[in-house]
Amino acid sequence: MVTRKSRAEIERMRRAGRLVGEVLDLLASELRPGVSTARLDALAEDHIRAGGGTPSFKGYPGINPQRPFPASVCISIDNEIVHGIPGERTIHAGQIVSIDAGAIVDGWHGDAARTFYVGDPPARVAELIDLTREAMLAGIAAAVPGNHIEDISAAVEAVAARVGLGVIRQFVGHGIGTAMHEEPQVPNYRTGRPGRKLEAGLCLAIEPMFTLGGYDTRILPDDWTVVTADGSMAAHFEHSIAVTDDGPQILTVA
Ligand code: MG
Repeated sequence: MVTRKSRAEIERMRRAGRLVGEVLDLLASELRPGVSTARLDALAEDHIRAGGGTPSFKGYPGINPQRPFPASVCISIDNEIVHGIPGERTIHAGQIVSIDAGAIVDGWHGDAARTFYVGDPPARVAELIDLTREAMLAGIAAAVPGNHIEDISAAVEAVAARVGLGVIRQFVGHGIGTAMHEEPQVPNYRTGRPGRKLEAGLCLAIEPMFTLGGYDTRILPDDWTVVTADGSMAAHFEHSIAVTDDGPQILTVA
């Protein structure tokens, strides 16, 4: 079911979103060669809890009921697209690091992600990261009343198409509110169907995932980490936004 949020509810979502934005700023400042992904995760969890929130990813059910997500952020490196599990692994120069964070404050969710390169990226990798972010912003710009979900999808896909980036199809953006994943789904490619008409109060997580290769994915034996089937590098950006009569408002900023 699709729910439209009131202005007051959007303000409450902004509190969760602000916390998520702060977490990503914090981890960006701590991301350097030698830091462990477990350390980054601990910093994120501490910040979320100190801010009065709960990490929404921790304990989230996945494909294996015995293995809910064990951490507060997803850290996905190089050919990993999303849902990488923080642990003893340390960060190295020359890696593409995608960090996805989610928090709940007073029952309302925020969800956002950014991709970083550790060091000076090769030109093609810089293009991958820059265009994935640009596609997210293009998708957000299309999130205005009167448009449809397909307009967001088309705006995102068009950025990837400019230089032939792969667009992940298996994982998509989503509605967000009192649950992390609500209707409607927001694909990053055109489906040929208009999808829901956008109205003020609709809150969406818009999250392109692009690759330097194809769009096929597989899941590692940890039951979580999603990698490109062809081993190509991947990037992921996400903001939670509200559709309003004054235009799209990004909720996940510090
Ligand atoms: Mg999301």
